[in-house]
This record gives sequence, C-alpha cells and structure tokens, in this order.
Amino acid sequence: LPQSESLPQPQSESLPQPQSESLPQPQSESLPQPQSESLLQMQEVTTPTARLLPEELPKPDTETLIRYFRKRLALHPLVAVGLSGPMKASGIMVCVRKRPLNPKELAARELDVISLQPPNMLVAHAMRPHVYRDPILHNQNFRFDRVFDEDCSNAGVFNYTARPLIRHIFEGGWATCFAYGQTGSGKTHTMGGVVEGRNQNVMDSIYAMAASEVFSILQEPESAQRNLRVGCSFFEIYNTKIYDLLSPGNKQPLRMQENCQHQMEVMDLRECPTSGTAEVLALLNTGNGARALGKTSANEKSSRSHAIFQIVLRSANSQKAYGKFSLIDLAGSERAADNSSSDSQTCTESAEINKSLLVLKECIHAMGRNDPYIPFRDCKLTQVLRDSFIGKNVKTCMIATIAPGMRSVNSTLNTLRYANRVKELKVQAPVVP
Ligand code: ADP
Ligand code: MG
Repeated sequence: LPQSESLPQPQSESLPQPQSESLPQPQSESLPQPQSESLLQMQEVTTPTARLLPEELPKPDTETLIRYFRKRLALHPLVAVGLSGPMKASGIMVCVRKRPLNPKELAARELDVISLQPPNMLVAHAMRPHVYRDPILHNQNFRFDRVFDEDCSNAGVFNYTARPLIRHIFEGGWATCFAYGQTGSGKTHTMGGVVEGRNQNVMDSIYAMAASEVFSILQEPESAQRNLRVGCSFFEIYNTKIYDLLSPGNKQPLRMQENCQHQMEVMDLRECPTSGTAEVLALLNTGNGARALGKTSANEKSSRSHAIFQIVLRSANSQKAYGKFSLIDLAGSERAADNSSSDSQTCTESAEINKSLLVLKECIHAMGRNDPYIPFRDCKLTQVLRDSFIGKNVKTCMIATIAPGMRSVNSTLNTLRYANRVKELKVQAPVVP
C-alpha cells in the first residue's frame, strides 16, 4: 500500500505569503480552479489554511483551527466537479464511514481530525510546521459517493450501500460489498454487527440486513415466479488458504475449481439452504464463533483474514446459481504494511494481505474502467471472487471505514487514498468571494 507518512507539499506553501492582516482569509481559497483536464483528474486537493483566525489569537491550537474550519465549511461548502464521465456508469460505489472516537481516545483527549460534509465530501486535517510562521492547518479534500458520520447507524449505512445491490442479484447479477480499513476502524462492526463484550449482535449487521432484504424481495410476486432458493455460505481466507466457517469441525483448507457452468466454486464449501432471517442469524453466529477461534485472540486472528459471507440465489429446478451477493470483512489494511515482525509466518501473512489488497484495488479499478484485463488471478481473494469482477452484470460497493483520531491519521489517509484509487472522483476547494 502507498505510504502517506509525509503530507503533500502544496506549491503555494514553498514561499512566504504576502500577508494582508485582514481577517479571516484562508489561503486555500486561491487554490485549485479546475482549468485543465489534468487538474480535473486530481483526486485529492490540498488546501492550506494558514489564517483561519483573527490576529488577536496569535497561537491557535489545532482544535481551535479545526473548529473554525468546520464553521467555514458550513458557509462555503466544497464543490464536486466532473460529475459525468465513464466512472458514473461503472456500477462501483465507494463510501466512507467514520466511527466515533472510542472511550480510550476520548480519555486521551485525542482530536477528531476528520470533517465531513454530507452527502459525499470529506476533509482530513493535519498540522504542518512552517518555516516562517506558526504551524498551519492542512486540509485534504476527498470526494466519495457517500460519507457516513459517527452518528450514522448500521441500518443507515446499509440503505445506501448493500441494499441497492440486492435488487441486482434478483436480476441475475453478481454483487460484492467490501469493508476496508485498518484494524479497529469498524469493519466488523459494520458488516458483522456490534460487538458487546465477547458476543456479537449479528442482528444489527449488514450481513443480516442483506439476508432479511433478500427474503422480503423473495415474497414479491415477481420473484415468486422465478422459483428461487436461497443458500448461504461463510468462509475465510487466511494466508492464501480457504476455511469453511460453517463447518468448524473441518480444519482442512478447501480448494477452488471452475464448475461446468464456468463459475468459480470453492469445493466442498457448505452452502446452507435458508428460508428466513432467523436461520441466517444462527449461521452467522456459528461462523463468527469459528472465526474467533484459533491463534491468540479474536481480533488478532480476524484482522489477518478476509471473511466472506455469500448469499446465493439458485433456480429451484436446475440448481444453477442465478445471482450471488458476497459481503466481505477484509483483513486489517495496516497488516499489509506491517513488516516489523521478525516472525517469518507473520511476514508471509503480511505480504499476502498486502498483495491481496493491492490486487483487489486494481481489479475494481480495472472493472470501473471497463478494462478487458482484470488481474483477478493474482491472489486467492480475487480468484474466489472472479465472477464478481468479470462479466457485464457485476456491481461492487466498498465501505472504507476510518478512525477519526489524530493518532490514526496516517492509516486513515492510506485508507482514503486506497478508496480514491478504486474510484476517482473529483473535488474542488471552495471559492470564497
Ligand atoms: P475492525 O473490524 O475494523 O477491526 P471493529 O469493527 O472491531 O473494527 O471496531 C472496533 C471497535 O470500535 C469496536 O468496539 C466497535 O464496537 C467500535 N466501533 C466501530 N465502528 C463503530 C461505530 N460506527 N459506532 C460505534 N462504535 C464503533
Ligand atoms: Mg474486525
């Protein structure tokens, strides 16, 4: 993954700025006007905001600067540019979910450095030293299809992300929904449900909400005519090996093979026929239990594996897969960059996670560009999901989860850049009169 430890250096900051002492004059306002195509292609715009505050506050702290920035953002919103274009029709949606500061971060008085401007703009703040002046606040603007703030519930996220994809599988399509982000940013909370002590409340998960929506669409007369059956499977990919989470007794890794319908299939994977949400909840509990077992602690293991929950619609007559929805809780993205361990197994795991997340990004990116070459063969995760990348009838949604604290800002920027690469949307700094 790209390292983003150093902040971008906007050219406007390389020289001392002639200052008019009038108040408040954010310098960002002189920044990017989308005049050329190359500028329009910019994903990420840095807006240095040196002077947000009146002079009588000579040394404002970061918290005050961010507070003033948010007030200003409300008055002068960021502007989305380039709304048309091939990406729009690609069937790829990229959303970001910001979690609240957790009790530990609150106790440490950590600053929330992520500002959202719903429905789709996000600003990441960082303080940068300046040669001639006090440190200045830097703001990196991003645009996604949707951003969700810390008050948004799982149901709110579901409505805009996985829910629209469910109709798609009833039209014979293949859909995927990924949660991507560093460990502790909220992937499992979003996909698998709220963790309460040692238990996970699967009812409140996108997995369960998706299944419930499937059963409700199945009741509609049009779906009833199609005579479809629902099956669910739940497995994980851990260090290039596939393990069935619904057959916890079976510790043997599973193999993959192309079936006679030229669809990728995991051999001997348990696909449980289900006829209602209650059955799915039971399966999710079994799977989560199996995922948490093994290795040292639950989070340690789950942060190193990709968990894949699949809802498959099959024609009752032919048993042929009619539509498939894969919901994926990816391995922690920080694991990809983790090469600090001297343990060779950990290094191999990290290298594999790194590879799979990179290949995944390139596959979705290529899919969005209607590229004929999609590098799905390059890792196990994308091999398993091959049918979700190739073909005309595929749709994908990525939910990038981020922690808002200042200490997490580098991981957060990595996540935002990753999500940006998946789908390049443009943003323009506000033009303030
Ligand atoms: P990950 O799976 O990315 O490692 P988790 O989903 O386990 O992260 O989240 C880490 C902690 O943060 C959990 O205690 C979880 O309940 C909490 N959390 C995550 N996202 C949210 C959110 N949107 N609202 C409230 N708490 C959250
Ligand atoms: Mg997790």
